[in-house]
Amino acid sequence: MPHAPVETDFLVIGAGVAGLRAAIELAAAGRVVVLAKREVTDSNTQWAQGGIAAALSDEDEISLHLQDTLNAGDGLCNPEAAKVLVEDAPQRIEELIQWGTEFDREGTKLTFGREGAHSRNRILHAHGDSTGQEILRALYAKAKTLKNISVCEFEFSTALRIEDGAVRGVHLAGDHGSGAKRQVHASAVLLATGGAGQLYRNTTNPGVATADGVAMAFRAGAEISDLEFIQFHPTALYLKNTPRFLLSEALRGEGAYLRNDEMTRFMHKYHPMGELAPRDVVARAMVHELDLSRSRDPAVYLDLTHLDADHIRARFPRIHQTCLQYNIDITADLIPIRPAAHYAMGGVKTDLEGRATLPGLYAAGEAAATGVHGANRLASNSLLEGLVFGARAGEAMRAELRASKMKKEHDAQAAYCNGPVEASTEEIIREIQDLMWRHAGIVRDRTGLTLAIERLEQIRPRVVHPQTRRAWEAQNLWQAGLIVARLALRREESRGAHYRSDFPAHDDAKFLKHSIMRGDEVRFE
Ligand SMILES: Cc1cc2nc3c(=O)[nH]c(=O)nc-3n(C[C@H](O)[C@H](O)[C@H](O)COP(=O)(O)OP(=O)(O)OC[C@H]3O[C@@H](n4cnc5c(N)ncnc54)[C@H](O)[C@@H]3O)c2cc1C
Repeated sequence: MPHAPVETDFLVIGAGVAGLRAAIELAAAGRVVVLAKREVTDSNTQWAQGGIAAALSDEDEISLHLQDTLNAGDGLCNPEAAKVLVEDAPQRIEELIQWGTEFDREGTKLTFGREGAHSRNRILHAHGDSTGQEILRALYAKAKTLKNISVCEFEFSTALRIEDGAVRGVHLAGDHGSGAKRQVHASAVLLATGGAGQLYRNTTNPGVATADGVAMAFRAGAEISDLEFIQFHPTALYLKNTPRFLLSEALRGEGAYLRNDEMTRFMHKYHPMGELAPRDVVARAMVHELDLSRSRDPAVYLDLTHLDADHIRARFPRIHQTCLQYNIDITADLIPIRPAAHYAMGGVKTDLEGRATLPGLYAAGEAAATGVHGANRLASNSLLEGLVFGARAGEAMRAELRASKMKKEHDAQAAYCNGPVEASTEEIIREIQDLMWRHAGIVRDRTGLTLAIERLEQIRPRVVHPQTRRAWEAQNLWQAGLIVARLALRREESRGAHYRSDFPAHDDAKFLKHSIMRGDEVRFE
């Protein structure tokens, strides 16, 4: 039996930094339902360590933050979006502080860390290396004080609900539910569903990062942009049978070295900034060093042993504790590392107010492509993007609120049940992750990408009729994987995080453009 639809003014899918910030903006204008597919604390935001960037220190300027952002983006940032990001940053951070976010201070003064490709110390952090967790705590606490906001955990969105050509809600599958069909009706929908790291075998992202928003938007006919640009973080813990726990770039900001398995520091061979070179350069340098190694079990290490141990323990308590669980004392031992998929620069194409290319649909945070990151994201700009563009999308959505009566009939486009996850679903997901890692990962070429697309097409019949939440995630990963591979194949150049060994140089004449995909059509503009 279908349940009666939930009626609300605004629907926000995602309870990370982008979704919660948008909800706070929307609460003054109407009722807001915020959905999270698991607990609120299960998101990329919760895991963000290093910090959030803003030109707030005495030695810094907004124009320098802008320049660093544009430089990291390798020619492809949307300069207007990047300008909005850095200009709105101080105000958004002040707001966070007013709402109770406790950034680290020395006495009363905020302390600013340094990360790769930043020309100034401008990274605010909280409890050392738990910045995302602290920001999420404060935003959630603020949201709970606003009676118009309902945050619903374990509510999985499967498909957008279209009414007269506009997005007016979603179809749901509740983890704890009976499996009955349910919908939420709203005047506007924000996708704040986060990243796509689970596309890859090695990733720093938690299990929720399955590109659901991108896949839902694509299936509904929205444009997806720049999804070939996937950032691989160079320094993830690399131990057998353990998650690829992120070892923040801030460790290198504090002076940590990278060493190959002959114990040689190698980064200066690849880039004048050494260990603090852009992430894509460091990740590729590591892959190269691993290839050069004569060892049977090649390794790359992060080395903090020359740094002050007390300072490291105090500055990185979470990393220190987590590594200790695996018998690694980061102040005394070398840490084995490998690159891992970390961040999706592209996503659902939006304008500067978060509007996607379907009426009624908005996107913000990692699920969106505003163009702020170009071909490569500057460290600590993504929490900021969620804050800034979450707030802007919220402002814009307020204008959508209409008195028009919503249709009440139920369209049964998305049928599902919440039965047990089938072993075959996990197999499909592993297959996709392996394919993407091998053929659409750090170093790509035509042969590998073509093979990845062929194999993904062969998988299609196994993902088209999802019957469980996990099967929807498999379909979403499959869909996003195909978009990444198709765009990566079409971009016959190397730029930022997208490296083609068969086209190792920039081709500005053809590709100083954003990729856009809608349905089967791919274009560059
Ligand atoms: C280990 C790690 C460290 C990082 N460190 C930093 C850092 O120091 N600084 C920085 O700026 N960035 C960092 N990042 C990146 C940053 O954390 C993310 O880009 C950012 O938090 C994304 O926020 P978001 O609100 O877009 O998405 P998320 O925080 O990922 O939230 C996504 C939300 O969407 C919900 N959702 C997803 N799909 C569905 C669905 N189908 N139905 C219902 N709900 C759904 C999820 O449940 C979740 O609530 C880091 C990322 C990782 C993984």
